[in-house]
Amino acid sequence: MGAVSDKILNDMIARRRDLHRYPETGWTEFRTTAKIAETLRALGYTVHFGSAFIKSEHVMGRNIDAETEKKRAIEQGADPAIVEEIGDYTGLYAEFDTGRPGPVTALRFDVDCVDATETTNDDHLPAKLGFASVNPGKMHSCGHDGHTAVGLALAELLKEEKELKGKIRLLFQPAEEGVRGGYAMTEAGLVDDADYFIAMHVGLGKPTGEVYGGVDGFLCTTKLDVDFKGFGAHAGGEPQKGRNALLAAATAALNLHAIAPHSGGATRINVGVLNAGEGRNVIAPSAHMKIETRGESDELAAYVYKRATHILEASAQMYDVEIKMTKQGEANRADSTPELARLVSEAAQAVPGVKCAGDKRPMAGSDDACWLMKRVQERGGQATYVGIGATTAAGHHNGAFDFDEAAMPIALGVLHNTIKRING
Ligand SMILES: [Zn+2]
Ligand SMILES: [Zn+2]
Repeated sequence: MGAVSDKILNDMIARRRDLHRYPETGWTEFRTTAKIAETLRALGYTVHFGSAFIKSEHVMGRNIDAETEKKRAIEQGADPAIVEEIGDYTGLYAEFDTGRPGPVTALRFDVDCVDATETTNDDHLPAKLGFASVNPGKMHSCGHDGHTAVGLALAELLKEEKELKGKIRLLFQPAEEGVRGGYAMTEAGLVDDADYFIAMHVGLGKPTGEVYGGVDGFLCTTKLDVDFKGFGAHAGGEPQKGRNALLAAATAALNLHAIAPHSGGATRINVGVLNAGEGRNVIAPSAHMKIETRGESDELAAYVYKRATHILEASAQMYDVEIKMTKQGEANRADSTPELARLVSEAAQAVPGVKCAGDKRPMAGSDDACWLMKRVQERGGQATYVGIGATTAAGHHNGAFDFDEAAMPIALGVLHNTIKRING
């Protein structure tokens, strides 16, 4: 690989830090999308905004006030004209068309942040260097700021390539957290003609220098919002008139976590949020829960989901309260195509900073890139999910998370080399 210029590498780090400072959760990435568009256009790309290809019936978990978010994005430095162009849906794609016949390679970079509060501790690098989140309760604690910056640097490197064939499509996907955006990108047909598809993630519990051409073992997952509606009453005066939504939700929470494991393989359940009640002396008339279920296969996922909905309904019935469940996100599972995983790990060997490159590595998370992977594989293409090791200060989604930026040039090099092998 020819040496990448210091300017490209420095710009990449600077962009990552800028994105880190202004994190945006799923479907609110107006500033992020505007910045990506601005950078790509300056490089000569035509950008296609989400609103042009995302259909509302494929959008999950979008409960936002778009006007407020757009206003915030502009206050935080987004170009107002671009925010106007973006329309309803965040995210975009752009294509590098070599003009020569050859394979279509699509890459996915997720751009959203996590609902998490960033630590203000002095030993936390973003705090120390002044690029910690300015958006309360929002934080890039999964590394997607890095993914976005790597995608933009790759876009820049591609423009210098004179020998490539085919097309390279760069997908900047909104709302990966909570697995909400991947399905909409897939159903938009963005990878229907792709011969190769690559998603990439930094960290994943592996140190800087380790690279995995294919990550497997994703869990199918469903994200649910649950609303319990009871009846408020005076807790001293006439408690018998109340219908207690708090107790229904609390009963459900404990029993959801008591769902038996399955001998057939891994399952997961989590009640991540439970808010209930209004006042000390009021029988709680409402409760709100955010839960997720997971399973290693469609069958295992269905097992947990079915038990969970049964427990939720039964708990509501016990306390005579109404229940409403709303699906907020969903992801299937996919396995990396072995040939492509091997090609990536071979391409990684030549990248400076790579100490070890393996073909496959299991992990127990979920990612809605699986929708895209599966679509490509079903249509005869190859797809892989590349793991780029990055030493982290704390686990993913923790407020003290920060990844080693040395993993970014590695990620860039691996993707660049891989494209040269596929489209060279
Ligand atoms: Zn995450
Ligand atoms: Zn992530």
